[in-house]
Amino acid sequence: MTREIGHFIGGTRVAGKSGRFADVYNPNTGEVQAKVALASEDEMRAAVANAQAAQPAWAAKNAQVRARVFFNFLRLVEAEKEELAEMLSIEHGKTVPDAHGDIQRGVEVCEFVCGAPHLLKGEFSEGAGPGIDMYSMRQPLGVVAGITPFNFPAMIPMWKFAPAIACGNAFILKPSERDPSLPMRLGELMLEAGLPAGILNVVNGDKVAVDAILDDPVIQAVGFVGSTPIAEYVYTRGTASGKRVQCFGGAKNHMIIMPDADLDQAADALIGAGYGSAGERCMAISVAVPVGQQTADALIEKLIPRVESLKIGPSSDRDADFGPLVTAQAEQRVRNYVDAGIAEGATLRVDGRGFSLQGYEDGYFMGGCLFDNVTADMSIYKEEIFGPVLTVVRADNYEDALELPMNHEYGNGVAIYTRDGDTARDFCSRINIGMVGVNVPIPVPLAYHTFGGWKRSSFGDLNQHGPDSIRFYTRTKTVTSRWPSGLKDGAEFVIPTMN
Ligand code: NAD
Repeated sequence: MTREIGHFIGGTRVAGKSGRFADVYNPNTGEVQAKVALASEDEMRAAVANAQAAQPAWAAKNAQVRARVFFNFLRLVEAEKEELAEMLSIEHGKTVPDAHGDIQRGVEVCEFVCGAPHLLKGEFSEGAGPGIDMYSMRQPLGVVAGITPFNFPAMIPMWKFAPAIACGNAFILKPSERDPSLPMRLGELMLEAGLPAGILNVVNGDKVAVDAILDDPVIQAVGFVGSTPIAEYVYTRGTASGKRVQCFGGAKNHMIIMPDADLDQAADALIGAGYGSAGERCMAISVAVPVGQQTADALIEKLIPRVESLKIGPSSDRDADFGPLVTAQAEQRVRNYVDAGIAEGATLRVDGRGFSLQGYEDGYFMGGCLFDNVTADMSIYKEEIFGPVLTVVRADNYEDALELPMNHEYGNGVAIYTRDGDTARDFCSRINIGMVGVNVPIPVPLAYHTFGGWKRSSFGDLNQHGPDSIRFYTRTKTVTSRWPSGLKDGAEFVIPTMN
């Protein structure tokens, strides 16, 4: 019988009651390995009620006590990291070493929130007036929620729940229905680490569960990560119902390669950043922009053998460069883009469509594809492919190269490869993109900085993790107090100022 994955509510695993399920595949073989319950509105309401009941006592604990849960959680994750990486990898399809990275990037945000007592310190002004002190404090919002994508089933849930919970909120996590096992296990480990029941609830589901979150009057804030159309939908509907909402969407990340760049270094960077995790990363480089025909010709010559020799294997193969795509639909979508690129007139220099792996013929595998002579009007340039496909757009000079990412609708990440400090500095200053790499292909900021794109890669005004996450999951209260009271007799009608 197929394994059923329910929900984690009020500190226990509960079976789904809606009667609706989604298949969870093993992308290596195409087999259905589990069925995940899709929550109804009532099930979501029950989870929210649980969270609401538990939250005040959690918020009343001091920040240091809350932080200790994360210290314990980190130890538990460390002890179980091998099993967790395997659990993640077999549902997602990324290799086990890459799954370790997925977990580690989440762990680093949990490490960051261990500093909650410091992060939540308010501001204080002594003697703001005669006998007057003024201070601001950061207080939790109450019940908050996170809706997360399939491509980082460990990292992004932790990016969401760790700061929210450390700040004293209760959390509803609605993970991707494609790889729900790891988020469920994280819920259990937080409980084992000492988190009171009801503070972290994992409610599986689809649009019904998402809409129930967006319309629930108890939920005060929603953090979303996923594709841009859904990000925009969640932002619009969530803010319309009065919530604080931040949504992170799709991407088309360019790497500009200047004529003075070390081309071997640039080619290696493009291979890792373009094809790692089968291109299923929001910070994957999907567009290479060599500057000048000579640079382009030389770069293509270096890329071709590297793409042709990529090692594609089952996610359990620790030596593989990448594994299968997540679902049959995802694979088909990528294949359609490759067909479209050919029809639109781009030159397919490496064709990975024929790739097949003995013993895994029904898995969702594709070899690496490399397109040259891509132009800005083609769908393979304009849209996010989210697969192992790198496109090369040739630019005549630096200004033309800069125009490409500047004019693209997405603004998540970008990189420049150059040895010239002036060019790099000019690029960092002028580019209208949220995360910029100089000779770094995937410039994902570390946990103590913030992560977020510009333009249609992000909706809302605060980023993920780092100091912004503390601002997002708290609200400020400012107290003005006068001791001793020492008031003059009589009412004052003019607004108090410092004059
Ligand atoms: P997705 O938009 O399909 O799903 C994201 C979440 O939304 C899931 O929890 C899903 O259940 C839910 N959802 C899906 N359809 C919905 C609908 N119609 N109504 C309401 N909710 C719905 O995204 P995905 O395929 O899981 O993830 C890949 C996408 O996420 C890519 O576009 C990638 O660039 C993006 N992403 C962005 C970032 C970032 O920080 N900017 C990080 C990771 C992934």
